[in-house]
Amino acid sequence: MTTPTIKILKFGGASIKDAPSIHNVVEILRTYKGEPIVVIISAMGNTTNALEGIVKGYYSRSRDSVELLLALKHEHFKVLKELFREVDHPIFDEVNNTFVEIDWILEDSPHEKYDYLYDQIVSVGEMVASKIVSAYLNYKNISTRWLDVRDCIRTDSTYREGKVLWAETETKIIKTVPPLLSGHFLITQGFLGGTSENATTTLGREGSDYSAAIFAYALNAESVIIWKDVPGVLNADPRYFPEAKKIDCLSYREAIEIAYYGASVIHPKTIKPLQNKKISLYVRSFINPAAEGSLISELSPEFLPPILVLKQNQILISMEVKDFSFIAEENLSQIFYLFSRHRVKVNLMQNAAISFSVCCDHDEKIEPMIRELSEGFVVKSNHKLELLTIRHYTEDVINKYSVGKEILLEQKSRQTVQLVLRHGTDESNSASNT
Ligand code: ADP
Ligand code: ASP
Ligand code: MG
Repeated sequence: MTTPTIKILKFGGASIKDAPSIHNVVEILRTYKGEPIVVIISAMGNTTNALEGIVKGYYSRSRDSVELLLALKHEHFKVLKELFREVDHPIFDEVNNTFVEIDWILEDSPHEKYDYLYDQIVSVGEMVASKIVSAYLNYKNISTRWLDVRDCIRTDSTYREGKVLWAETETKIIKTVPPLLSGHFLITQGFLGGTSENATTTLGREGSDYSAAIFAYALNAESVIIWKDVPGVLNADPRYFPEAKKIDCLSYREAIEIAYYGASVIHPKTIKPLQNKKISLYVRSFINPAAEGSLISELSPEFLPPILVLKQNQILISMEVKDFSFIAEENLSQIFYLFSRHRVKVNLMQNAAISFSVCCDHDEKIEPMIRELSEGFVVKSNHKLELLTIRHYTEDVINKYSVGKEILLEQKSRQTVQLVLRHGTDESNSASNT
């Protein structure tokens, strides 16, 4: 049984970062009373980063994970005390019992693989937050049902980037969710999945938008509404471009392009399931819930302004064959095999006669990969770079945003230009042999 009027609402970390924010979410939800609503909750504020710190500390034994965990629990209990007047409310024990799973892991030395442990620990952020929001809604006389999403979203066991097993997931969601919706809001977690062995997986950082799209797809929902700290999708990230303006209406195509290039307002995997079922996606402001936000749908607006996507902390890696032979299909397949094994995503690539260059996020996966690449190639790299993508560019816009910077690489198509940029005077940053 599926109901066409179901709406999926997703609240990210910023919307539930403290007690007043959670209260604000309750007020937003109140306006949907009586409607069949699935609510997807991510971890509060910066909890996921804090949990990542705990995993790193535990695994490398270089930092005190127990202390970090205590601080995180303390923050959650501070929020609980502000939300619930009675300290004997059952949510206090429930939150404590959920965190205990991390205590148990930390008591032992790490035997399991890093990515597996990561998912078991980091998932606690979503588990705890969804329990708090659910309990607080009930406390405010809005009836909820809480669902463990790991029983519904089935993934393979690619820890930290679980691949959704769609057929099983769809069957489970269709069977479980509709009966829980009458008279209640259904509260569940974003970002998480579960394997057939009941292990927890995560869907990749910022993956809660994607979770909302998975539920929407399975339930043939009417729409997905993701509540953000911005008025909607803007033509640039306002953290870097304060002059950014809201775009009222975007096509799925435009949204998937900008998400792919790194516009972090929407997780890139969110669009496909929605496009496939023609489900509307609204991006709305939890700060100004009465405002309309942006609509992503089949409709293409006639005019779009230039849209800028800036990725910082980029590394440009160039690989040269050692014997002056051409970069050919065999080298490329070897290179891509390495990238895929290290789970490094390529943001931009360029081929020349005897060299191949890629621009990637400079994270912890890069150095081990470069070490392996250096066995077969002469590898050079430039770091501390920016990758600026401009959709619907004009020459004026390119000049405006690249002024004072050195363009190390430029790629243009009809709609999109991508520039790898270096700040003019940064000497620490010239090409180094690796
Ligand atoms: P969530 O709370 O759901 O995790 P995010 O922080 O991931 O939300 O996404 C919202 C942020 O995305 C904004 O605060 C903004 O800085 C950033 N952002 C990047 N690109 C854009 C864009 N084109 N339009 C709006 N916001 C953007
Ligand atoms: N809490 C997870 C993260 O910070 C998932 C999400 O917020 O979408 O990556
Ligand atoms: Mg986020």
